[in-house]
Amino acid sequence: MAATILVVEDEASLAEILRYNLEAEGFVVLHAATGEDAEVLAEERGPDLIVLDWMLPSVSGIELCRRFRSRQQTRAVPILMLTARGEEADRVRGLSTGADDYVVKPFSLPELMARIRALLRRASPDRVAEVLRFADIELDRAAHKVKRGHRDVRLGPTEYRLLEYVMENPGRVLSRAQLLDGVWGRDAFVDERTVDVHIGRLRKALVRGREADPIRTVRGAGYVFGERSR
Ligand code: CA
Repeated sequence: MAATILVVEDEASLAEILRYNLEAEGFVVLHAATGEDAEVLAEERGPDLIVLDWMLPSVSGIELCRRFRSRQQTRAVPILMLTARGEEADRVRGLSTGADDYVVKPFSLPELMARIRALLRRASPDRVAEVLRFADIELDRAAHKVKRGHRDVRLGPTEYRLLEYVMENPGRVLSRAQLLDGVWGRDAFVDERTVDVHIGRLRKALVRGREADPIRTVRGAGYVFGERSR
């Protein structure tokens, strides 16, 4: 059963982006633009995780976080705070009111998604796919192992993360910039050609003999993993 995520965010455009991306990952998304709506939705629907904006009209994210923590229904639900404030004191304050994690705006979407998955894994391990599969390729997140058929595929940490990322986005053309953002992180100082080098290493590890290459290079655009029609 898909996990339900309550997004509490008053900025309509950001809420829409979050909804789109979370739904693309298979989550059920509820959205509230105010604290009052959020409390009603949380009570009625019992979400598995709450993404909570710090700056909300009337009831603040901090206050809302306190309320969620004080109620039976939402006491144990993981809360991820979104905020424009990067001050250490605010971070500590957010966490001390009961938030489980904290992401500073503007954030990278892959990073946010990774944090959400990590929180869900901790709270309800059965709700997040531990094993990603495509054809005869299997990536086991719990064991941190990759197999192709019966063969163990040995990958360096970057190739592993790269494979995990492309397997999370099958059939989508991913630009080098997207891959950098998703695998190395937004602030990493890495040249786009580095992506090509690591894709090369990943292919070399994944493809033996006459095995099909699951990664296709899209000239001028990037890479796409796991197209079924090949
Ligand atoms: Ca806001």
